[in-house]
Amino acid sequence: MDEEPPGFEVDDRTVAEILDRRLEGGNDGGYLAPADAFRVLELYGIPVAGWRYAGSAEEVLAAARTGEPPLTFPLVVKAHAPAVVHKSDIGAVEVGIEDEAALAEAVAAIAHRVAEAGERLEGFLVQEMVSEGHETIFGISTDPRFGPLLMFGLGGRYVEVFRDVRFGVTPMTRTEAEEMVRGIRCVKLLDGVRGEPPADFEVLVEVLLRLAQIAVRHPRIRELDVNPFLAAPRRNQARAVDVRIRVAEPPGA
Ligand code: ADP
Ligand code: MG
Repeated sequence: MDEEPPGFEVDDRTVAEILDRRLEGGNDGGYLAPADAFRVLELYGIPVAGWRYAGSAEEVLAAARTGEPPLTFPLVVKAHAPAVVHKSDIGAVEVGIEDEAALAEAVAAIAHRVAEAGERLEGFLVQEMVSEGHETIFGISTDPRFGPLLMFGLGGRYVEVFRDVRFGVTPMTRTEAEEMVRGIRCVKLLDGVRGEPPADFEVLVEVLLRLAQIAVRHPRIRELDVNPFLAAPRRNQARAVDVRIRVAEPPGA
């Protein structure tokens, strides 16, 4: 018998509400705010680094101190400047923050750099720092004729250098997802070089399958990029640390 794509139990209703809210003003919602984009991943059972959002520099410390489970240092802080595609290009990402004093300094430095770049700053994302793992990328794009296209490959700084990515279509079976993950040219890097432990492949396959499901069930997600997803040796340490989601009514809807 043909292999069926898996069905994950997820909170589709809340995802739909997030998309509804973004599309209230019209058919093209643009990019979700970072908090909503991370929430969509969480609702789909995709592991993300612990995060808080603050609407201003003054609120960052309070945001970092509240909520359960508490955030643990080291932290990372990033600007939310909606027009900026690559935050690190303008110095809007600070990693390896060890304490609250360093956090306050990082926020001030980022605010300064965003202003110098002439960009509008809307807030800050504070995140737990993920110290282990290879940078991988997951993506959804939509082709007007073929529908959703899934992508997996090496991410972060590697993505532009090696262009080592594979594509797949929906519905996606586990076998297809495994072939996509195993099919990148530099898969040996994930297997671990020079005595490094291998990345957990099962979590990568599952993230891909969960994204394939979101692409099928939520066609208003026109584009989604997780870059990077840090593929750690142990499953429970792998985390998405950056995500962008563009929403629009599909053509003809
Ligand atoms: P952008 O892609 O907009 O420049 P990212 O959020 O992807 O911004 O951050 C840039 C880089 O900083 C990432 O590719 C990754 O190497 C590193 N980084 C970002 N967030 C974290 C984190 N929470 N833990 C570890 N490294 C991070
Ligand atoms: Mg990124």
